[in-house]
Amino acid sequence: MVCPRCGNANPEVAQFCGKCGTALSSRPQPADPPVPKSGVSSEMKVGMIIASIVIPVVGVIMGIVYMNSPDPDRKAAGRTWLLIGVVAFVIYCILSGALNNLMQGNT
Ligand SMILES: [Zn+2]
Repeated sequence: MVCPRCGNANPEVAQFCGKCGTALSSRPQPADPPVPKSGVSSEMKVGMIIASIVIPVVGVIMGIVYMNSPDPDRKAAGRTWLLIGVVAFVIYCILSGALNNLMQGNT
């Protein structure tokens, strides 16, 4: 194969260039890992939304932290998590209140 560095034609089985010694590989070089963006990944958004529903306090705290970030993407995500955390907290309060009433009514 042709050396990518010096252009020397090498036998296909050659692992190194006979002229300059560059390692030859028939496999393409692995692509660079994607550079993480400064914003919030969709996995993070979805994960935090689930976490906010399961543990509202987490959503509220993370929401406040992210809302203080200068990054508009983080701000938007933080606002969403905070909202979900607060709503989930209110729903849990209502549910636990209703459950208490139900238990007291039965006894
Ligand atoms: Zn070479």
